[in-house]
Amino acid sequence: MKKIALVSVLVLALSGVACTSNDVKSNKVSWGYTGDTGPIHWGDLSSEFATCKTGKEQSPIDIRPTVDIAQSDIKFDYQTSPMTILNNGHTVQVNFEKGSSISFKGKTFNLLQVHFHTPSENLLMGESYPLEAHFVHASDAGELAVVAVLINEGQESGFIQKVVDHMPSSKSSAKTIEGVSVSAFNFIPSQDGHFGFKGSLTTPPCSEGVQWLMMKTQTTASKAQIDALHAVMHDNNRPVQPTNGRTVGSV
Ligand SMILES: [Zn+2]
Repeated sequence: MKKIALVSVLVLALSGVACTSNDVKSNKVSWGYTGDTGPIHWGDLSSEFATCKTGKEQSPIDIRPTVDIAQSDIKFDYQTSPMTILNNGHTVQVNFEKGSSISFKGKTFNLLQVHFHTPSENLLMGESYPLEAHFVHASDAGELAVVAVLINEGQESGFIQKVVDHMPSSKSSAKTIEGVSVSAFNFIPSQDGHFGFKGSLTTPPCSEGVQWLMMKTQTTASKAQIDALHAVMHDNNRPVQPTNGRTVGSV
């Protein structure tokens, strides 16, 4: 019961629903990507962040597939949504209105938000990418599934351009951009399968039990788009964590 309550709080926090600092205590603890509040210290900053150092299934990881990759069995049902965007001080995030979801292994996960990391957090066969997008989903029971997309420098992305055009350059609350809508469907290279593995949130409190679904195929954004995101977010990638025997495949 306690666990479900905690998951509910996490889902609220992740979905960008207004939470006061009283609702989510961990918001009070300042953390970052460098110095005394950087990733190697997260687990010591608060008892609520302990999983960041004691967890055994932490994210991100260096993805080295251990089984053959099957065609993707993720069914995407993404709809066009009004564009609501924020800068939470750690990343730029777009919130989606209710109605977009994925189906995976007989479960439905509702799309809450997408946010970005420069450079990528997950590595693929030891390789880092300049940008990674995380599409965060939650089931009605509070289980989390993150669809991750690695992004190379190349052709401009229409989806990323909307993010760049409207992102706040400093920490801000969510705002809906009048007359602008977004659909993530065409952005996701979903046809060639995915790498599936169990992991965690890559930011404090580093909660585990997250289903990761990394699309096997990468997409692109222009150098100008990647540079624009990096100029606002700076380096916001947690270093890779030990796999501790986790299998990585089409699971
Ligand atoms: Zn992320």
